[in-house]
Amino acid sequence: MPDIAVIGAGFIGLASAAALMRDGHRVMLFDPSGVGQGASFGNAGTFAHYACIPVNNPSVFRDLPRFLLSSDSPFRLRWAYLPQLAPWLARFMMSSLPRRYEASAGALAALLGHAQGGYAPLLANGELARFVRPRECLYLYSSGASFEGARAALDLRRQLGVGFDVLASAEIRALEPSLAPIFERGVLFSDSWHFSDPQGFLQTLYGQLAAQGLKFERATVGTLQPHPDGVSVTAEGRERRFSHVVVATGARSAQFARQCGDSVPLDTERGYHVRYPGAQQLISRPIGWAERGFYMTPMSDGIRVAGTVELGGFSTTRNRSLIDLLTFSSKRALPALDTPDNNWLGFRPTLPDGVPVLGRSRASERVIYAFGHQHLGLTLAGVSGRIVADLIARRTPPLDLAPYAATRF
Ligand SMILES: Cc1cc2nc3c(=O)[nH]c(=O)nc-3n(C[C@H](O)[C@H](O)[C@H](O)COP(=O)(O)OP(=O)(O)OC[C@H]3O[C@@H](n4cnc5c(N)ncnc54)[C@H](O)[C@@H]3O)c2cc1C
Repeated sequence: MPDIAVIGAGFIGLASAAALMRDGHRVMLFDPSGVGQGASFGNAGTFAHYACIPVNNPSVFRDLPRFLLSSDSPFRLRWAYLPQLAPWLARFMMSSLPRRYEASAGALAALLGHAQGGYAPLLANGELARFVRPRECLYLYSSGASFEGARAALDLRRQLGVGFDVLASAEIRALEPSLAPIFERGVLFSDSWHFSDPQGFLQTLYGQLAAQGLKFERATVGTLQPHPDGVSVTAEGRERRFSHVVVATGARSAQFARQCGDSVPLDTERGYHVRYPGAQQLISRPIGWAERGFYMTPMSDGIRVAGTVELGGFSTTRNRSLIDLLTFSSKRALPALDTPDNNWLGFRPTLPDGVPVLGRSRASERVIYAFGHQHLGLTLAGVSGRIVADLIARRTPPLDLAPYAATRF
């Protein structure tokens, strides 16, 4: 019988299961959708260890009104969702004040500092390492003014230990000749990499863990009930008892926190992707366009153009204008692109301060939270899994977990 339940089979749940199994635990994974079908399915695939600047930062006070009203903005609000979003949005604005934003950036940088080490046990495996493409990410600015507007954030990144080079337009074209000559400045982040197929990586990891005894149940977990000596999990009418439970249900995690005595203001930043099949040879690395809020990543099946932020809850209705923005803008950046053959909507799990929740629940030390990884769940999967396993083994985690506690709200 499995002794630990992991709820959620995305990057965070799978990495947690892998770390727990390395410690010798028997694990059962629950997810009604299968493996890697949530936000983990369609992300930009970048290992973004440099991304310690959260969306909640002081520039929102300058940019938010323009973003919310402009038709080519990558940041949108579904106005009908505003009444439900208002408490989250108020906290988000408060978290964008300089002191709080710097605290969030520091907490993210500390965690990101362990991101590569967290992946090491996974990538020591050749079958998994073959999904890694070790090319630095290039982040572009089409106007000198917006690059200047980003300077303070770049300086903070450098202070927090992120290495990068600033490139002029000729250097950008020399690196990526297929780009249109519309970019004035670029930033090349050292030591970043990307996955050629994030979902393929997760499926392969799952296959290996299943061969080692991981049990998987395609079921929705409804309730958690902590007891002194274990935790009951009820999934589709069937109750089972485990010694520990890991909550890794991404944007749907607040319900379980509530059941375990914690109120977390988790909401979602919706994001989209479009895919250009067979176009991957046009670029050699992930390329972000700052003003348009997306990455173009060369993957095994084509170029994936992924990004945008839409504050709009869990409705599955897609915003056509954001899909059009991704299509139009990527063709402007890479004129040789033809027509995308599909699009996707995903739900990033986001707390208003941009910092994930990693730690024990208030009601029971047997319930471990690992959710809220916003734009960084792929990047932070390895270290999050390691922290989950450390907590259950009562080992000292690689960093102080106070900034990631659910009780901070
Ligand atoms: C457009 C876009 C681009 C992105 N690009 C990047 C990037 O380049 N790099 C990066 O690091 N991150 C990126 N991200 C963020 C990243 O994808 C997420 O942070 C990450 O996928 C979150 O992983 P997760 O395992 O927490 O959640 P998910 O992948 O959403 O998995 C949660 C799982 O829980 C399951 N679940 C929910 N409720 C229940 C229940 N009651 N019972 C059982 N199971 C349940 C769901 O079915 C789901 O499979 C991007 C996200 C988007 C949307």
